Amino acid sequence: MDPQSIYQQLGISAKVFQFGEGILSGLRPRFDEIDQNAETNQAKVIGAMQRNRVSAQCFAATTGYGYDDVGRDVLERVYADTFHTEAALVRPQITCGTHALTVALSANLKPGDELLSPVGRPYDTLEEVIGIRPSPCSLMEYGVQYRQVDLLPDGTFDYEGIRAAINEKTALVTIQRSKGYQTRPTFSVKQIGELIAFIKQIKPGLKCMVDNCYGEFVETTEPSDVGADMTVGSLIKNPGGGLAPIGGYIVGTQECVSRCAYRLSAPGLGQEVGANLGILPAFYQGFFLAPTVVAGALKGAIFAANIYERLGFRVVPNSTESRHDIIQAVELGSPEAMIAFCTGIQAAAPVDSYVRPEPSDMPGYDAKVIMAAGAFVQGSSIELSADGPIREPYAVYFQGGLTWYHAKLGILMSLQKLVDAGIVTL
Ligand SMILES: *Cc1c(COP(=O)(O)O)cnc(C)c1O
Repeated sequence: MDPQSIYQQLGISAKVFQFGEGILSGLRPRFDEIDQNAETNQAKVIGAMQRNRVSAQCFAATTGYGYDDVGRDVLERVYADTFHTEAALVRPQITCGTHALTVALSANLKPGDELLSPVGRPYDTLEEVIGIRPSPCSLMEYGVQYRQVDLLPDGTFDYEGIRAAINEKTALVTIQRSKGYQTRPTFSVKQIGELIAFIKQIKPGLKCMVDNCYGEFVETTEPSDVGADMTVGSLIKNPGGGLAPIGGYIVGTQECVSRCAYRLSAPGLGQEVGANLGILPAFYQGFFLAPTVVAGALKGAIFAANIYERLGFRVVPNSTESRHDIIQAVELGSPEAMIAFCTGIQAAAPVDSYVRPEPSDMPGYDAKVIMAAGAFVQGSSIELSADGPIREPYAVYFQGGLTWYHAKLGILMSLQKLVDAGIVTL
């Protein structure tokens, strides 16, 4: 059967399919580049697994305290080896990215210390962690102050502002790599390295943490390669490879990671406790698959950017920009278009494809939010997903796809729904 007819069976018209193929024919060089990065990252992960002697023994379940949990300890060495750090904390007791970041911050800041974000406002969920929005158990409640230096209007670092903000109390700098749900650019690893070097030259010994969410394996280096003392992320995103059902990671210096372990479990216990409950096979296999999964998601993001830019929509990043995370924003300009787009993503999913996404109220948002996700792991955004608040500029944030082919189908289906709704004509 030819590809066009199999897509037709799934509800994609010949016209939409052909439009997609036309866009794709121009993207082959970029896809080659992505494949080359994936190849390098795949070798990096396999090498780390070999050097640390991953074996069937590592996949065994432990319960109770989890003393001498070989699988857990080897997995942490595999992460440390891959990210080129002294130590790593990777386990199901870290529930998500926000939790990992909370552990990293609260373990390495003491009362009277000041936390600095030199890249503007952090990710939504961190506002309550820090206390920017007052919240029980926030860092501010424990006497940690917060200071922020916004980016310059062109999205670059305000070096003079950063220099002025660093003082004797500044103890930790938090750098968010991905733009998240903002419109600023995502930073490359190289840019992050330059920022860290600048900061350390002003105050040697000042610890730098990078929120690496959505950034892992997009490039062949990571923030840990350019001076970050801690690099932190979620296993429900890139490094979980779609298989990890829970989890977060912190990689970095032994000193920082040990403190994180004491904070996560208890002073004195640290990394020694924490049974794996039998889910390590998914952690190992997910990490093994992550480079190719990220490559598929990146191809999807670039395909979407090129399709929607060609149709006249504003896309961030644009169709030709280099990529430093897997998120693609598409400004669709109307609620109807957002709904049609998300309906298409949902209809293309392997799970819950029969569900129709509808805008609804969400805690923390001033507008209704629409979400499309038909994922094997609930809320997983390394799987194909799209969401956005129903307000100007009516942008959907699109990410993930465990395989490039699924991402492609989702994007074609989103376009099909926009065509069916009469919003787009090809
Ligand atoms: C997703 C995300 C987080 C939070 O991770 P969760 O796993 O959703 O808690 C933090 N920072 C950034 C930049 C993110 O994209």
